[in-house]
Amino acid sequence: MTATARWSPARVSTDMRVLILGGTQEAFQLAERLAELAGIEIISSLAGRTRAPRMPKGQVRMGGFGGAEGLARYLRAEHITHLVNATHPFAARISANAMAAADSAGVPLLRLLRPAWIARSDDRWLAAQDAAEAADLCRHEGGRIFLTLGSGELEAFSGIHNAHFLVRMVDAPEGLPLRDCRVITARGPFSLQDELQLLAEHRIGLLVAKNSGGDATYAKIEAARRMGLPVIMTARPAVAVDPRSPAVASVADAFRWLRP
Ligand code: NAP
Repeated sequence: MTATARWSPARVSTDMRVLILGGTQEAFQLAERLAELAGIEIISSLAGRTRAPRMPKGQVRMGGFGGAEGLARYLRAEHITHLVNATHPFAARISANAMAAADSAGVPLLRLLRPAWIARSDDRWLAAQDAAEAADLCRHEGGRIFLTLGSGELEAFSGIHNAHFLVRMVDAPEGLPLRDCRVITARGPFSLQDELQLLAEHRIGLLVAKNSGGDATYAKIEAARRMGLPVIMTARPAVAVDPRSPAVASVADAFRWLRP
């Protein structure tokens, strides 16, 4: 997925200031690796959505920047030399902002984006373009459904009368827009054994997931396959990767971009 680079790879220097847009395991791992090195300062940026986020080594800042212009201002004010967008594949707005801000501030940008999951021949996936389409499919199927989407995506499921939802979230929500649901709080990674047990215990007949990719939450997909359950797989939003800046799929490759 590497695109043509507009900027040459970073040279080793003693005054690198790297801003990592985070909220993912990859962002955390990259910050932890880079923080050990001399001559490089790391600032991890978190949106501030989870109550007790894992705090990586190095500096951490929390909360939005105020759109692309705010992020560009931050890049200039903080003398950021390299920007790494390691946000989640579904974090479309901050990714678009990162491209615009890097362009306007003249800061080299790297997209660290984990590959999407690909269906195997023994998977039973139903493709949905977004949460609204996933909800339509749920309305059609009904029954006991394990819903593994973010709280911001649940509104689309509010009018469904013929389903019981099991919802898993990192933090307990204030309230959910679902008619019949049970909420459990847990933070990944999840093991196959635990996912098999959860699906059996709650007599789940259908799983709704988004195509996050990565290992941390893949066990539920494997568990559904083993149990022969259908999975409504929501596709990633179409955030264009800037063709002028590079993209990598692993923490190791992101590290090499910064320290060739
Ligand atoms: P989003 O829709 O793309 O972003 C919405 C706004 O939140 C952005 O415009 C930005 O505000 C702020 N923001 C997002 N990520 C930020 C970051 N790393 N640092 C500072 N501000 C940030 O993002 P989202 O889907 O709500 O995701 C929010 C965070 O949760 C991201 O960091 C992402 O990596 C993480 N996450 C998301 C998902 C998911 O499924 N979406 C799953 C796991 C983790 P301003 O415009 O004011 O700068």
